[in-house]
This record gives sequence, structure tokens and C-alpha cells, in this order.
Amino acid sequence: MIKSTMQDYALNITQLFQHGRRVHSDSEIITYHGPDAELQTSTFAEVGDRADQLAAVLAELGVGAGDRVGTFMWNNQRHLEAYLAIPCMGAVLHTLNIRLFPDQLAYVVNHAEDKVIIVDASLAPLLARVRDQFTTVEHIIVCDGGDADARDGLGLGATQDYEELLAAQQPGYDYPEVDERAAAAMCYTSGTTGDPKGVAYSHRSTWLHSLAAQTMEGLQIGEADRVLLIVPQFHANAWGIPYAAWTTGCDLVMPQQFLQAGPVADLVAKTQPTISGAVPTVLSDILHNASDADLSSLRYVVCGGSAVPRSLMEGYQETFGVEVIQAWGMTETSPLGAVARVPKNNAGDDPYAWRVRTGRVFPGVELRICDEAGNELPWDDEAQGEIEVRGPWITGSYYLDDSPEKFHDGWLRTGDVGTVDPRGFVQITDRAKDVIKSGGEWISSVDLENSLMGHPAVLEAAVVGVPDDRWDERPLACVVLAEGQSATAADLTSYLEDKVAKWWLPERWTFIDEVPKTSVGKFSKKDLRASYANGDLTVEEV
Ligand code: ADP
Repeated sequence: MIKSTMQDYALNITQLFQHGRRVHSDSEIITYHGPDAELQTSTFAEVGDRADQLAAVLAELGVGAGDRVGTFMWNNQRHLEAYLAIPCMGAVLHTLNIRLFPDQLAYVVNHAEDKVIIVDASLAPLLARVRDQFTTVEHIIVCDGGDADARDGLGLGATQDYEELLAAQQPGYDYPEVDERAAAAMCYTSGTTGDPKGVAYSHRSTWLHSLAAQTMEGLQIGEADRVLLIVPQFHANAWGIPYAAWTTGCDLVMPQQFLQAGPVADLVAKTQPTISGAVPTVLSDILHNASDADLSSLRYVVCGGSAVPRSLMEGYQETFGVEVIQAWGMTETSPLGAVARVPKNNAGDDPYAWRVRTGRVFPGVELRICDEAGNELPWDDEAQGEIEVRGPWITGSYYLDDSPEKFHDGWLRTGDVGTVDPRGFVQITDRAKDVIKSGGEWISSVDLENSLMGHPAVLEAAVVGVPDDRWDERPLACVVLAEGQSATAADLTSYLEDKVAKWWLPERWTFIDEVPKTSVGKFSKKDLRASYANGDLTVEEV
């Protein structure tokens, strides 16, 4: 080997942080406080100084290298300050999911051994419910909690005020040299089965992911952009967008708790973002409840976390003139793994034929599919197997949790089942645990749902496998009708007839008010299966 002449330069978030604040000092972080309040706007220079002050605060509270600092916050400027200060001072940012069940929240705080938690006062009641169970938390810092008396009423015990603490410190923190392999941030999976599992991102993985996310193959984020960050900062680091945006000088618009269709439309009108990102359920809510909004400032919206129905993409195009780009990823993959953009040489195909696919494998990520025996399958758009990935921003283990079944020869087993075409377009047919096994064959719940959601009367549709004497499992269609619309099980069955194989057609139907959602806004099929098993659903047979 001839040794290269290149410098052995550590890839760390501090370098991204210092670059953004210096080169893009006048880019902006805008925080929304509701339709009737003023927007709060700060420049990168100001936010950078405040991040220095936060680092000094935490150091004074005894936070040292590798200590975990939890955040229990909405998407807002202070949360971004935490994103910058905590990793750069050598500590570990642990974004806590504000929608976890109380026991799971206590579990992840204790498992990660958080030393300090920063909490938005409006979320304090959710944290107060489990405060007594925390075993390692030494300090709680409250944002907008008022004076000491007001904070005493929050039920969190002794707390300190974020702004008071910052005011006592000066900008210009002396950041240490951090090892690029050191943990920078942690995120737990939402624990749909069993306890949540922790993933620890390194400085190096975050650096590489941030630069890759900006590219044309990725999220196409540049200085001229302004991202409306709907995806929560606790959901896989808001898909890596904050660091990518900071690095390029792209403005960030932070909606806090104002995530309903009306306020989002107001925020778009006031701030004119060019990009946004959200899970399908949130985009669907906006489409159905704010269809008169002017979203034309948006170049595109990136959507993932679960399959994006074609009807949602078409709805955005026709109603708002906005492109929805589908992406695939996981907490374990930082999260970008695949992005569905129309390829060149597409033979004039309908662009949707490409856009509705889960995504095209992203540079930096190696992807393969394997059969149940672990043998690699071809990329022929037909062979179906479990998707496995590896790469510099893919987790190689879980934090203090030995789960050998999740890995295969150094590859992460995603639990997603699908096909890959010769050009690397992945099509996920299901999560392994959601696949419906009928008479030894697999029915894709995702395909059935997407087809059903194309019916104009259907607002949401989730399909789960339920026990069947003859076929082992058969699909149960759980349908939410749009307001003022009607459709019967027979209508929907005939609608599906030319869209899916005949033997896929569900015999069991239930019409419900809402599909239960997980803590990150996905359909909770576990809850639907449990409701069915408990006899809580009114089921019609056709
Ligand atoms: P959780 O596992 O708790 O739901 P994640 O957000 O990490 O939290 O979920 C990752 C999973 O989400 C993937 O393994 C996959 O099943 C699903 N997913 C993400 N994006 C897509 C997509 N575009 N299409 C289908 N499924 C998706």
C-alpha cells in the first residue's frame, strides 16, 4: 500500500457547527409561537453564541465527556442549541420521545443514564409523571417555566431556568477535541415490540450523514433553502435535517407544538419555506383539513417513516402543486437509506411509477436482500427478502443491548421485506411482523392500504393479518371514511378488484373513527390486532 498524503482529519460535529455559524452567520432559525404570536427569529451567529453559553452551563453543572443530556422538547430554537452544544462539548445528546408511554420514558432515561434533562414547560406534566422513577438525573432545566415559584408547581422537583442559566455565561466556549468515533447523540427506537432499543450516533457518522443528506441524490438542501421542520427532533434526529441545514446555511422553521393543519398553513404563509419533511399521517391531515392553503413556496416535501400512498402524492401535486418525495430509513440508519427520485433513462414512464417506490439506495449505504436462510437474493425487482444494510451511518449494535438476531455478518437486519430492481430501487412490501401469511403465501398490507387510500371516500386504511381457520391468516381492512363520505365494504371490495390479486381481497372489514398511531405517528397495527383479538371492533364479513 502507498500511504496517501491526506491529513488524518477528525470528522466531528464541532467542525460543522463552527462552519455554519461563521460562514452562514446571517441564516436564520425561526420559531413559531402560534398564529397570534410574533415569530421568534435568530441568526446562526446568535444561536451559535447561545450554544456556547449552553455548553458552559452544562459544564458548570458537572456534565463531562460522554455524559448524557436528555431533551424533552418540541422543535424549536433551544432544541437546536442543545443539538449543537451537547455533542460539541463532548457530551451525548439524548433526544427523548415526548410521546412514549410513561414506563418506556422512564426506561430510556434510566437506560441511557441521563444526567441532565432540558424540558419545555408545556411538556413538563408528561415528564413529571415519571420524575420519581429517574435514577441518574441530577438536574432538570426548564424552558419558559417562569420564576422559581411557578416552576415548583410543575411537579419536577428542583429545577433551573434555561434563560437564567444562559444569561450567567459568555459566548466563546472552548470546545475540546472529540474523537470522531465518540458518541454524539442517542435515539431510542419507539419500541413497537418490547423495550425501546438505543442507537448511539458518532461524530463521524453524523458528519458523513449531514453532508450526504444535502446532495442532489439526497434531500437537496442548500443555502437558498428554508426547511419547515415538521418531523420531530426526537424522531431519528429529525431525519438528520438540522445538521445538514446548519452546515449549508439553510434556514430552519420550527413549528413547536403547532402541528395541526391550520397552524402549519399559517406558518407556511408567514415564512415561505422551500422544503419540509413529515410522516404520511401529518401530510394527510394537512391535505384534508387545509386544502385551500397556499403551500406553493415549497419545492418539495420529503415523506417517509411508513409507505407513502400514491393518492397522497397526487393529492399534494393537484391541490398544492407540491411534490412529495418518498424516502426510507430507520432510527438505526441515521436515518437516510433510500430516496425515490425519478431516474434518467426512464423510458418516458409515468414518473409516479418511480416516485411511489420506497426509494433508491443512497450513496454511502450498502443494501442487500436475503431469504429466510440468509442467502443473498438478486436485484431483479421480483425476488423478495429481508432488507439488510451496512455503511458508515448504520448502527452495528444497540446501546447496552445485545440483540444478535438483529445483525447478520455485520449487516443490520431491518425487519423490512421487499424487492430491489437492477438500478437499486427498493420496494418494501411490508414489515416482516406485519406481513399477512395466507395459505403459505404473503399478502402485502402496504399494497392493500395504498390501494384503499386511493378511494376518494377513504381517509385512512390499515390492513392487519388476523387468525383464520382455513388460511392461517387473512387480512382485516380497518377503514376510516373521510368526513361526509360513505362507502360500504362491498363498494371498497369492488374498487380493489382490479388493483390487487383476487385472493388478497379482505373478507373482514371494520369502519373505525381513527387508526391508532404510534409515538411517531405511524399506524399502530399492534393496537389494531389487539383490539380485534379483544373483540373491540365491529367486523363485517363480505
Ligand atoms: P419505529 O421502528 O419505532 O417505527 P423508525 O422510524 O426507526 O421507528 O422506523 C423505521 C421503519 O419505518 C422502517 O424499518 C420501515 O418499516 C418503516 N419505513 C420508513 N420509511 C418507509 C417507507 N418509505 N416505506 C415503508 N416503510 C417505511
